[in-house]
Amino acid sequence: MPQSFDVGDVLGPTPGWGTLVRRGLARRCPRCGDRHVFVHRYRLAERCPACGVRFTREPGFFLGAWFVNFMVLEVLHWLLVMAFIVWRASDPAAGLLLPLVVGVVTAVAVPIAFYPRSLTVWAAIDLAMTPLELGEIVDAADAVAEDHDAGT
Ligand SMILES: [Zn+2]
Repeated sequence: MPQSFDVGDVLGPTPGWGTLVRRGLARRCPRCGDRHVFVHRYRLAERCPACGVRFTREPGFFLGAWFVNFMVLEVLHWLLVMAFIVWRASDPAAGLLLPLVVGVVTAVAVPIAFYPRSLTVWAAIDLAMTPLELGEIVDAADAVAEDHDAGT
């Protein structure tokens, strides 16, 4: 049975980069901002329950999320190295143990803690770089309508 959807949903503007990335950082759906997009803390749902957009739009989606997670860690470690250089310049007796411990702890903890956000940030970047095609919009509207029909 064909489903109907609002024409404004097809022709409406896509949110800008800032809005998309802000929603991703907040662990929300980049398209609509809904916050219930995780099955559990580390597992992204297949679709947004509110707007029906499919997050894994193509194979390799998780590679992009991994890349975002890796870049966050690399930037953090670069900042830590710069802080160590400044610290060492002001105090030549500064030891290496503390920076090494901080580096190892952050290398383990940051990717684990940031992983959920890396999923939604990558979904936002993917959506910003490749706006939804008409077929994906119709598919999302159908998914929402099916959920609505199943729920009633
Ligand atoms: Zn959504």
